[in-house]
Amino acid sequence: MTQRIPVIVIGGGIVGASCALHLNRSGYEVTVVEAGTVGHRATRLAAGAFRSQFAHPEETLLTMRSHEIRDEIQARSGVDFGFRRVGFVLLASDEAAAAELNARRGFQSDLGLDIRDLDGAELRALVPGIATDDLLATRFTPADGYARPQHVTRLLMQLAVDEGVVLREEASVVDIESDGIGQASGVALADGERLGAEIVVNASGLGAATVGRMLGTALPVGPRRQHQFFTGESAGIEPSKVPNVMERSRRLYLRGEGGGFLLSTSSADEDHRTDTDVTWPLTDSLRATLGHRWPAVADLPITDGWVGCYPITPDDRAIVGADPHMAGVFHAVGLGGHGFMHGLSTGEAVTAVVSTGSWGTIDLSPLRPDRFTSAPSGTDVA
Ligand SMILES: Cc1cc2nc3c(=O)[nH]c(=O)nc-3n(C[C@H](O)[C@H](O)[C@H](O)COP(=O)(O)OP(=O)(O)OC[C@H]3O[C@@H](n4cnc5c(N)ncnc54)[C@H](O)[C@@H]3O)c2cc1C
Repeated sequence: MTQRIPVIVIGGGIVGASCALHLNRSGYEVTVVEAGTVGHRATRLAAGAFRSQFAHPEETLLTMRSHEIRDEIQARSGVDFGFRRVGFVLLASDEAAAAELNARRGFQSDLGLDIRDLDGAELRALVPGIATDDLLATRFTPADGYARPQHVTRLLMQLAVDEGVVLREEASVVDIESDGIGQASGVALADGERLGAEIVVNASGLGAATVGRMLGTALPVGPRRQHQFFTGESAGIEPSKVPNVMERSRRLYLRGEGGGFLLSTSSADEDHRTDTDVTWPLTDSLRATLGHRWPAVADLPITDGWVGCYPITPDDRAIVGADPHMAGVFHAVGLGGHGFMHGLSTGEAVTAVVSTGSWGTIDLSPLRPDRFTSAPSGTDVA
């Protein structure tokens, strides 16, 4: 029997869990080192949306492949990720937003995405009472939906552990070691323990810049605040039947959650902040936005709210691929506001790159790790 190649995965969020499962299934001997507990960082705070409409084909393909992988894992392993296939509607009510949606239309269809233009009546049938008079473009992708990120991540990690992955929680990687000639040889943990490995996968989310510094590699992944709120129960509308709705120019996203809704918004004024304090006055502007777009939801009581931080890069695209400085090290970080939906396919992508140097499904070169020259300082939120 051939010996399995040892791999350390740094981070037990959705990306680390997915990398661990895929690498293990490809024959590697995988240990996940997680500073806290599984899925306790950005993954825990995600809204859970799966969206296929993006500005670039790579991100659209990553979501399309994630849909397939989710279904493949469920069929093979008998788990239920609780995915709700309600679809995703993107709205554009100004010229710039409509031009953006129109510019993507062609390549998205060419990729085989089921994407539909909705008129006002069709949209109102999906989202009862929504105001449609000022909309210039409405695009609907019926295969999209949402799931609970923590549930999905814990199921994935449990599957990985059941299949042989070793999970080390409450253990932080403080250094990546090399054999002296540029090949990874393992990691050092905060308590002084050393774990040997020929391959190290960095799936550390907002810990990326710190991990990058261990290698001399600029991984400019920083936090961007995003607010989320729960509403109380809605009478008259069945939230579980409502698709994900996003109007980017109004910084509005919503989906059903129990008997009410999950609302998400952000403020450009706060993009420099790294704390997670809730700015409650944002609920006023959110209500005003909803009062215009969907009055039926605007008056629902807000029952809870929190802030999470997207792990974003300067060009708002993920960093996936081989480290430019140390052989055997691979990065899967900076997945921004798309990391939950792209986690499943990113795990497969990383496994292919580790095994063969590339991924046949998608050209990952736009996401290559050597495209940045400097990392921000003081923005790590590991
Ligand atoms: C409010 C909000 C809403 C969102 N909504 C969506 C959505 O609807 N759909 C979507 O697709 N995405 C969404 N996202 C984005 C998504 O949550 C992230 O992109 C995704 O969770 C990133 O996963 P990750 O595994 O890379 O990072 P994380 O979940 O942050 O995991 C990284 C892990 O690495 C560990 N770690 C870091 N450094 C070290 C170290 N040195 N040693 C050991 N462990 C370490 C951390 O403890 C952490 O657990 C949202 C994010 C937020 C904040």
